[in-house]
Amino acid sequence: MALFIDKECINCGACEPECPNTAIYAGGAEFEYFGKKFEALSGDLYYIVPEKCTECIGFHEEPQCAAVCPVDVCIKDPDWVEDNSQLIAKKVDLHPA
Ligand code: SF4
Repeated sequence: MALFIDKECINCGACEPECPNTAIYAGGAEFEYFGKKFEALSGDLYYIVPEKCTECIGFHEEPQCAAVCPVDVCIKDPDWVEDNSQLIAKKVDLHPA
């Protein structure tokens, strides 16, 4: 299950450097996915690219963005459900050995 950043985000930016997958971008910033650039998913608030979020599996015990967010707006997206094996496969794709 990917996480997303809720609209109560205060744009502090604490989450962005914590993500092992560079899945978090500032509002308005293009995101990169397998070498290609894509339009920002949010114009004003930090956002998470769900295709790049693995819930930090293989790197940390818990989602790091949620751990550092001072207003608890990094939350699991019920519309983006993935089981552990899917998350692990995603992590391997993003970080080939
Ligand atoms: Fe990145 Fe982990 Fe947050 Fe997903 S849960 S966006 S992988 S820091």
